[in-house]
Amino acid sequence: MSTWPRRTGGSDIVLVALLMVAGAWLSIRWAVGPGALPAVWMPAGLLCAWLLVRPRDTWWRYGVAGLAADAAGQWLAGTPTAIALPLALCHLFESFCVAFFIRRSIPDISDPRHWVHLGGVATASTVIACAISGAVVSQLARLVPGADPLMTFAPWYGAHVLGLVIVGTTALVVHVEGLRSLAPPGRRIGFLLGMALVALMAGLAFSTHYALLFVTYPPVLFAAFRHRFGGVAVGVSLLAVIGVGFTAAGHGPLADLPALDDAWRTVLLQLYLAGACLITLPVVLAMAERDRLTARVRDSEQRYRLLADFSGDLVVRLDAAGERTYVSPSSREMLGWAPEEMLGTRWDLLHPDDREAQRQAMLEVVASGLPQTHRYRVRHRDGRYVWTEVVMRSAPRDGGDGARDLILSGRDISKRVAAEQALEASRQELQRLSMIDALTGIANRRQLEHRLSLSISRLGEEGSAMALFFLDIDYFKGINDTHGHTSGDGVIRTFAQRLQTHAGTDALVVRLGGDEFVILLDGDVTLASATKVARKLLVAVRAPMRIGNTTLTVTTSIGVAFTAGPASEDDLLAAADEALYKAKQKGRDRYEVAVVAVGGDPGGRGHGTAAPASDDPSRAGRGRRSRWGTG
Ligand code: GH3
Ligand code: MG
Repeated sequence: MSTWPRRTGGSDIVLVALLMVAGAWLSIRWAVGPGALPAVWMPAGLLCAWLLVRPRDTWWRYGVAGLAADAAGQWLAGTPTAIALPLALCHLFESFCVAFFIRRSIPDISDPRHWVHLGGVATASTVIACAISGAVVSQLARLVPGADPLMTFAPWYGAHVLGLVIVGTTALVVHVEGLRSLAPPGRRIGFLLGMALVALMAGLAFSTHYALLFVTYPPVLFAAFRHRFGGVAVGVSLLAVIGVGFTAAGHGPLADLPALDDAWRTVLLQLYLAGACLITLPVVLAMAERDRLTARVRDSEQRYRLLADFSGDLVVRLDAAGERTYVSPSSREMLGWAPEEMLGTRWDLLHPDDREAQRQAMLEVVASGLPQTHRYRVRHRDGRYVWTEVVMRSAPRDGGDGARDLILSGRDISKRVAAEQALEASRQELQRLSMIDALTGIANRRQLEHRLSLSISRLGEEGSAMALFFLDIDYFKGINDTHGHTSGDGVIRTFAQRLQTHAGTDALVVRLGGDEFVILLDGDVTLASATKVARKLLVAVRAPMRIGNTTLTVTTSIGVAFTAGPASEDDLLAAADEALYKAKQKGRDRYEVAVVAVGGDPGGRGHGTAAPASDDPSRAGRGRRSRWGTG
């Protein structure tokens, strides 16, 4: 026991030796009758308690002093030296045996965690050690003429077990907790009154002829409850002193049994005292264990509260009615509210859009017992909302009435949410950019693919039709060559604007790339309205354009694929491409229409020319181009 003070000086040994001399003398003189064996043997318990709290390498000194003191005490009480010395050796064996086993099994006897175990080891080693020494002494008694070995063993055994239990426990408690622990300040009067009650009842029980011995147990038990080890030690000692005193003086129910000799009287008295120990010591040990567990729970609760108090996260405890019963101090830092201001039912702190979700989540967590994580906006004192990530757990309510509370631990994630929102915005912007043409700002091929497949899927529906325009600026290379690429870009931009302006609000105008454009008309489009749009576009494009400092005039050729019934994407694209090719071939600045299906007749293909062909042999050799990768 490293924690134990090395108070092993000569004065300590002298003290225990003097106490043992007095104990031996008292034990012998305080017997129930002249020549009877003691009812309680005190020195062994004293020595054992001392050994338990002193370093093992000093035990031999205590052993030598204890042996001498024990024998001296016996001799002073009138025991012949020849008998006193072997008996003292037996006593020494008991003390060492019990102390050895306890020290071997219990690392630190001052630690209340080991007290229940200590009680078990102490009882077992006491019972065995006293049985061995008792057996030896009863054999020695055979040498004395007229002595009965059994009647030597029984009182010896009782006296030594009781001595080790009562005196040993008392001495140990005084060693471990100090003398004041027997009756701590504030409880002294209660302690004295309790002991007075024990003494009074014991006096009553041992002074009358009635078999009332057991009326002393309730006050001793009461003393055990109120004053723990101190109550038991002093209470049982009082019973022993008063019981032996009255019986030895010829009073009380034990003295009144003429058939009994002093040895049997001693045994009965010992059984009575053992009963008092048996009903009180387990109670005291159980209560010490309960105190220890309660203290542990309190400690851990304090520790966790401390953690919550010093955590940057906001910890909130809610009861079943949604009332906040605990709010950690971090509320100030995170939300600007003092914890007291957040107590109670304050739904107004939660963003109105999040209240129902939180209420629902709380019910689910309580019902399932499983934790959930959510994000809520909580109002800061300055009015703004703080995005908070909240982990909800259900926990048993304090008091153990079966009800469950909710523990919420929230973390400010405003920065994370802002970053996520910025990321989402840029993702959407990227998405938007990926769908538009960088030069003109109108839709690009990707957007067309998306819209085209949608429109085609609706083609089977009643009254649906679609017109797909392919447009290509005429002789655009020449503009680039003559006016430069920048002017060419200006032409492409102006061209795109004009298409947007004149194609109609429902039309999707797309730049495929280069000087190639597509217009998608769907919904209530007809062949007539489509050709009308084509004519309008030709006129609009012809108008002079102001590009930089120059004024340019361009024309375009248009190929229109029209369908009023189901048609495949490939068919439509091929038809529009072919119509454009035709328009180019026929002299440009014109449109050609290819009808892919009419009124639910797929494959019914026809061509219509809605503008006069203007032949241009210089362009006639242009082959059919692939704009869509369809051939
Ligand atoms: P055609 O009437 O047969 O269409 O004759 P064209 O000269 O217009 O010939 P074509 O349509 O094949 O030529 C398209 C030209 O557009 C080829 C390329 O140099 C030019 N071009 C492609 N992309 C761009 C661009 O982004 N900016 C500019 N300025 N020119 C481009
Ligand atoms: Mg061209």
